[in-house]
Amino acid sequence: PATSMEELVSLCKRRGFIFQGSEIYGGLQGFYDYGPLGVELKNNIKAAWWRSNVYERDDMEGLDASIIMHRLVLRHSGHEATFSDPMVDNKKNNKRYRLDHLVKDQKADVIARVAQEIGEDVDNFPAVVAALVKNPAQASQALKAAGVRDPFSGEVGDWTEPKPFNMMFKTTIGPVADEESYGYLRPETAQGIFTNFKNVVDSTSRRLPFGIAQIGKAFRNEITPRNFIFRVRELEQMEIEFFCTPGTDEQWHEHWLERRLSWWEAQGVPRSKIEILDVPKEDLAHYSKRTYDLMYDYPTLGHEEIEGIANRSDYDLGSHTKSQSELGLVAKVEENSDSVAKLTIPHPDTNKPVVPFVIEPSAGVDRAMLAVLSEAFTKETLENGNERIVLRLRPHLAPIKVAVIPLARNKPELVELARQIKNELQKLGLGRILLEDSGNIGKAYRRHDEVGTPYCVTVDFDTLGQSSEASGENLKDSVTVRDRDTLQQERVAISELSGWLQAKLK
Ligand code: ATP
Repeated sequence: PATSMEELVSLCKRRGFIFQGSEIYGGLQGFYDYGPLGVELKNNIKAAWWRSNVYERDDMEGLDASIIMHRLVLRHSGHEATFSDPMVDNKKNNKRYRLDHLVKDQKADVIARVAQEIGEDVDNFPAVVAALVKNPAQASQALKAAGVRDPFSGEVGDWTEPKPFNMMFKTTIGPVADEESYGYLRPETAQGIFTNFKNVVDSTSRRLPFGIAQIGKAFRNEITPRNFIFRVRELEQMEIEFFCTPGTDEQWHEHWLERRLSWWEAQGVPRSKIEILDVPKEDLAHYSKRTYDLMYDYPTLGHEEIEGIANRSDYDLGSHTKSQSELGLVAKVEENSDSVAKLTIPHPDTNKPVVPFVIEPSAGVDRAMLAVLSEAFTKETLENGNERIVLRLRPHLAPIKVAVIPLARNKPELVELARQIKNELQKLGLGRILLEDSGNIGKAYRRHDEVGTPYCVTVDFDTLGQSSEASGENLKDSVTVRDRDTLQQERVAISELSGWLQAKLK
């Protein structure tokens, strides 16, 4: 695995996985563009998730809801009121920070001082942050007294009181900019699932338990985007809302925890690198009955959330439904007089309408990509003493499945045959097959090791039957296949190549 974020960032830029957004105009903080290989890897991760969660189950439906949503959706979901992070300003230079990030980044003795000033145990960091948020005036004093430094200037800051900063992006809709013609870019894909609950139930005749899966962009105006694609302002999520009968929710929660861990394992992200955080009651989001955060051990960052699996009780459908008071809701919800739909489904035993409980596994595509790249990244010393970087990606995730390489690019016969082979292999539907005629063979191998191409197929003079050696005759119409991981080279007949690769790349 990678030992630092730095080496991943460098590989990603050099080989065309990830670029800074709007780079030629100085870049835009918190936005990244996925390059030629990044888009393939990202698509492969999403396809693997979709296969596992939609196609391989009998209790799931898919959805692709719109990104811009009605302001009332985000009002009744609770996001207008509570989707915020605590922010502090340094009055000396007007720099703004997310309070918990600011404190976490200080030296240990400074953090201890902050905890002491606000009267909390330094070992309970969430409690320290919570106390700072709850007592803004004291917090401002505590930060100053503890000598909290500005990460930008390095000097002790003059800190304002922490204030909540709402992270939603708001946008004007239509040609008239009056008070009501605005909407929000969704801060999570989940809300599109809840608002379509009735549509999906009515159009598919689903009964409990069943789930709806969605992959798509979400937008969060993070106060301090950082750590490469770990914390960005435009992100992508893979989310499931699994609807079940109240009382079966805890069982389903465990089911999804297991299921998600084994999915990560199948993507090359082992359980041993993921800590399961059973979020303490006092840190739970207001909608959550219980949450497991999967904390992956990222290089340089340490254990950070890659996926959250929350038991959201009947909070969401209960918040968006009409006739709330008739439905015996368990969750505490705000009154809703705007919704025109009753978000219930017949109870499987009694047939009486019930608002189901929801289990939500929510994973970030960008954070998945970072973990997958990090696990695959390998630096090794070969027998001849040379060092190579190789991405040991699972074949189903590799951006390029096979590179077909003509041994000499100035020999039209070789290039033409390589192109024919490439076209044939492309028809197999394995993913991207690349005709690699850009450099010498050594360079091509190095490049494909670094981007994780499982097999390189080389077309040489033997393939054409133009060998100078006597033994060359039986090599005609065969190619050399090189294995990324073992470096073994095998001679395979062109007529058998499709079957050979299909078996290996299953
Ligand atoms: P954090 O505490 O790290 O800000 P969160 O608890 O707000 O994350 P959720 O709201 O649970 O995150 O979102 C579900 C998933 O979406 C996360 O597990 C993560 O993979 C992804 N995600 C959330 N915010 C971001 C972001 N700013 N950049 C990249 N991925 C994100």
